[in-house]
Amino acid sequence: MATFITEECINCGACEPECPNTAIYVGAAQYEFQGGTHDAISNDFYYIVPLKCTECVGHFDQEQCAAVCPVDCCVPDPNHVEAEELLYDRAKQIHPERPFSELSAANSRFRKG
Ligand code: SF4
Ligand code: SF4
Repeated sequence: MATFITEECINCGACEPECPNTAIYVGAAQYEFQGGTHDAISNDFYYIVPLKCTECVGHFDQEQCAAVCPVDCCVPDPNHVEAEELLYDRAKQIHPERPFSELSAANSRFRKG
């Protein structure tokens, strides 16, 4: 996964446009994945599609949803721990059209001191 949105969410919508992978959807909205449309994961709160979230690896040095959330409810899911390399590969699969820089402190939260 591993970022998810808790029930503390106040549905402000600030996180949705910040996600580089379009992994965040408003509650009850269907989501798009690999050419298909799927039922919402949450009907009450904004939610993150696990298979579209890279913890912002490949893009930014920290999770952008967590950075803007006013109530700090975008948090790592301890039940879905994923390795940096897997998240990086996911980012490349989601964006096959764009080149990715080597992993560094600038585009992976795993490399920050
Ligand atoms: S951690 Fe990054 S990739 Fe995952 S949902 Fe938040 S903004 Fe999107
Ligand atoms: S920024 Fe936080 S409170 Fe606002 S919709 Fe996203 S998860 Fe919910």
